Amino acid sequence: MYDFIVVGAGPPGSRFAYHAATKGYDVALLEKGEVGQPLACSGHVSTDLWEYLPAGAGDELLQNRISGARFHVGGPDSKAYPFYKSESISHVIDRVELDKTLARRAADAGTDLREQHTVVDLDEQRDRVVVTVARPDGTHTTMEAQMVAGCDGPTSRVRDRVGIDAPEELLHGVLAFTDAPDAGDRVDVHLTAPTFFSWRIPRGAAGVEYGLAAPPGAAVKSLFDELTEAYGVEPSRRCSGAIPIGPPDSVTTDRVFLIGDAAAQTKPFTGGGILYSMTAADIAASTIDPSVPSTLDAYEHAWRDTLATEIRLGSLLRRCYSLPEPIQRLGLRALDGEIGVHMDRPTTLFSRAQLRRLFS
Ligand SMILES: Cc1cc2nc3c(=O)[nH]c(=O)nc-3n(C[C@H](O)[C@H](O)[C@H](O)COP(=O)(O)OP(=O)(O)OC[C@H]3O[C@@H](n4cnc5c(N)ncnc54)[C@H](O)[C@@H]3O)c2cc1C
Repeated sequence: MYDFIVVGAGPPGSRFAYHAATKGYDVALLEKGEVGQPLACSGHVSTDLWEYLPAGAGDELLQNRISGARFHVGGPDSKAYPFYKSESISHVIDRVELDKTLARRAADAGTDLREQHTVVDLDEQRDRVVVTVARPDGTHTTMEAQMVAGCDGPTSRVRDRVGIDAPEELLHGVLAFTDAPDAGDRVDVHLTAPTFFSWRIPRGAAGVEYGLAAPPGAAVKSLFDELTEAYGVEPSRRCSGAIPIGPPDSVTTDRVFLIGDAAAQTKPFTGGGILYSMTAADIAASTIDPSVPSTLDAYEHAWRDTLATEIRLGSLLRRCYSLPEPIQRLGLRALDGEIGVHMDRPTTLFSRAQLRRLFS
């Protein structure tokens, strides 16, 4: 019997597995496909990312450095409201390589990493969890662990099987790319999608990404086509994914806990979840003892202590995307210019220094 079975080798799954294996626990990390595939993420992250990676990882992963954003109430021809810093605020990274780097590190620490292993069912018993797994040859097998970490993304099967509530909302995100290199240091954000936004991200030698996210039911495809037509481009390699917003009241049962998108540990105003999910993975690894189920309460409290305020303020910020356009323009005009805000921490927007700038 394993100490932990981790379902899903995205950032939080591999990060948690790495820590748990390093502590000497027996860990299996099950991934339904190939690690990192299929891509459904911009890989636009704060520079804090590097604290979670081995030294030198940037040589492989870093595609571009970003020092600000141009906000638009309309399309590319509309007025731009710039927000910037004199140094890099964020980095654009190769998301597929990120997942591979983290999974390799977990395996090197002793994790039993198995690709092409899809978890199809879970039976939570008094002293263990029995997991049913579909193998690459089409056969099924069972595996047992003291605890299971559900790191299987926004439409988590683990969450569903153990009866934890779904996130408040699942947005539909779409991406596509053009190939001409662009090493510009600003992303463009267009407040044109219902309750969310569309974007253009320069990815250095890897080209340019165009993207959009909106609630299901919104005309995501035609809104995305309008965006790319307005830019005069015909991007290829279109891909899409779900973005969970709003964590459920509990992300734990007696022997199962969720981390990452499965738990909707994301920023409501950007949909970003790479950093929050790895923060939560670190908290899970430092609080949970697989032989003591009550330690799951400690995880539940600790990740909320760290992230819940940021998520709440992030939700407030997102409401601004739905304000009438004249009010959006007023707000952007009042706030634009050099900023001292951290992209993962909305609390910094409400800092004394920022408020002084706003009202001076
Ligand atoms: C369009 C889009 C753009 C985004 N851009 C950004 C961005 O720029 N910055 C940012 O920080 N975040 C971004 N995100 C969010 C980010 O991708 C997620 O928050 C992050 O990937 C969370 O990681 P995760 O491991 O929880 O989920 P996932 O990355 O979805 O990983 C889950 C893993 O579990 C595996 N899995 C699923 N089911 C099973 C099963 N039954 N058995 C075994 N394995 C299974 C999957 O194959 C996958 O590898 C974006 C999301 C979308 C959709």
